[in-house]
Amino acid sequence: MTLLRAVFHFPSFRANQEAVCRAAVEGRDLLLVMPTGSGKSLCYQLPAVARGGTALVISPLIALMEDQAAKLAAMGLRVARIHSAMDRAALRQACVDYLKGELQFLFIAPERLRVTGFPEMLAKRRLALIAIDEAHCISQWGHDFRPDYRMLGAHMEALRPAPVLALTATATAVVQADIVAQLKLVNPARFIHGFRRENLAIEVVETPVPERMGAICRLLADAAHRPAIVYAPSRRMAEQIAEALATQHPAAAYHAGLDAETRERVQAAFQSGALEVVVATIAFGMGIDKADVRTVVHAGMPATLEGYYQEIGRAGRDGKPSRTLLMHSYADQRTHDFFLNRDYPPVGDLKRVYRLLGERRISEEELRQRSKMDEESLSKILEKLVIHGGAKVDFEGHVTRGATGWKKSYGVQAQHRAEQFEKVQRFTESSECRMVELVRHFGDEEDGGHACGVCDVCDPAGAVLKVFRRATAAERELALAIVEELRPVEYKAAGTLQRGLDPAGRLLRGDFDALLEAMTRAGLVEIEEATYEKDGKVRRFRKVRLTERGLEMRRSSAVELLIADGMVQAVASRDHKVERTEGKKRRGRIGGAEAEWTTEGAALAAKLKAWRAAEAKRLGLPAYMVLHDRTLEALARTRPRSPREMQGVDGMGPAKMERFGAAILDLCGQK
Ligand code: ADP
Ligand code: MG
Repeated sequence: MTLLRAVFHFPSFRANQEAVCRAAVEGRDLLLVMPTGSGKSLCYQLPAVARGGTALVISPLIALMEDQAAKLAAMGLRVARIHSAMDRAALRQACVDYLKGELQFLFIAPERLRVTGFPEMLAKRRLALIAIDEAHCISQWGHDFRPDYRMLGAHMEALRPAPVLALTATATAVVQADIVAQLKLVNPARFIHGFRRENLAIEVVETPVPERMGAICRLLADAAHRPAIVYAPSRRMAEQIAEALATQHPAAAYHAGLDAETRERVQAAFQSGALEVVVATIAFGMGIDKADVRTVVHAGMPATLEGYYQEIGRAGRDGKPSRTLLMHSYADQRTHDFFLNRDYPPVGDLKRVYRLLGERRISEEELRQRSKMDEESLSKILEKLVIHGGAKVDFEGHVTRGATGWKKSYGVQAQHRAEQFEKVQRFTESSECRMVELVRHFGDEEDGGHACGVCDVCDPAGAVLKVFRRATAAERELALAIVEELRPVEYKAAGTLQRGLDPAGRLLRGDFDALLEAMTRAGLVEIEEATYEKDGKVRRFRKVRLTERGLEMRRSSAVELLIADGMVQAVASRDHKVERTEGKKRRGRIGGAEAEWTTEGAALAAKLKAWRAAEAKRLGLPAYMVLHDRTLEALARTRPRSPREMQGVDGMGPAKMERFGAAILDLCGQK
């Protein structure tokens, strides 16, 4: 406590910090899993100072290392870093200081342990403790595996008896077990806390891919939803969305295809507020410390729930209400398969490279020529071989052959990846409180498990992209039939229930599920995921059972059934009224009569926006001078077919008509 004030200048501990620090000061090994921003660093820093001597901190990113080291140095603590971006003299100085016992903290990147003689140098002194930041990187079951973390376990013994502290913001039960096993933690104290985020409203919306860009533009046009981060599944999509957004407010793309300087500039501009939206691939995130992000959008399905949670966790660090939106559709499955194939190349390709390896050290370049593979594919394959023990790479990048058992472990891992994606799919299909599902996924056992009250499941009316409509008479009739089917039994499997009520198979499964979901929301039934075994395979099914409320349901009951009806086509106001209209226009009406959007209208708006962006670029004008947002929307809504009709659109004066009329009419005429 004294140290907390005197050294770290914090008035009090945050939740859990004190207990963690106490265990660490006592010299216990520990596993700390708390969300980003919850103050994990203090949990190794304070004990390090309390115990005296040097703490070794292992960190995967130079930026993270620099940031922590600078903060500690500013507090007057003696800190050194060792990483590849430093010159020799500075590296040597750090080692000298360490050996003289003059350091309180030494930060290193894990690959440093591969340098001959370095681990031995470290072992010359007794460490106060060893902190392993972002410890999930050690586990191939995690979502952010780093091969260099792999060998940490092998080095721990020589650095003992110092206690080992593993810290991470993201570790499922499997990853936690893996961290403990690989680092050989001895009877570690475990702290797994704080995964519930009270101020995040999670919304999951089925959205066809072509509609996503328009939906994002409309959503973020509302200043209350910015600053925002949009995660896009591909670089190309990130570019496209960023370009469309940039016509309405400062926005930029961020992905691994941009050079380091550009990326840094984008990150800094976002941090400072100059950029209001960043459209990123997963490369954007670690190290972002911006408190007022109001919205995080996923323009495609994430690969893992861990990654997803990390990304939505960047919203609302300031504790104010924030919203996260996940758009998905069947098409995401295919995108995901593509990435899976790219990230987990076929075993045959790995075999081909493996066969080229031997006792002799061979450079990557030589290997590339002999395998006739492009650089990217080869380095991916090598990475996999190294992880699974089929190849060894030394610090200079020379490769030799490893052990034979790699095939099996590689197969298991690829399988695991596929299962992780299935979990994401189940998350999107589930009818349980979104936050509860996530908290459970992370094994936060102290969480009470109460519904969050703000996600699209708990509060459908609060959703901004998803629309609910009242059940039709036929749907209510079917709901009553479901109640009657369930009344005499404990439960029924969802599939059996549907087949019983619809023997001819006329109902689409999606429609039936939507009705079941609506009934869950109305508190009439409960759905529980369950499994059974058949032919040696685990199969999943859903148990549906009546609740108390469901038992009381009669034809005359005034229960409101709200059915999920896809995505709204405008930024909804809180008090939107949803009505069902006919045919394709069944999207509903939101926020007043004039805001009627149809799918076609949205498509036209997207086209007009793309045209406007190109035109603005060509003329060197800001986009609003080509067409104001309001005018653009009015055009998309009314779709004028003649100059006469177009004149009637607000904002289309004679000058605009003269200049752009023909091009716009052309766009409006396209199907
Ligand atoms: P994590 O590693 O868990 O993501 P950090 O350790 O980087 O989080 O801490 C996040 C922020 O919280 C930092 O700015 C840190 O200074 C601050 N912080 C940590 N502990 C306290 C505390 N007890 N009181 C006030 N601020 C704290
Ligand atoms: Mg941290």
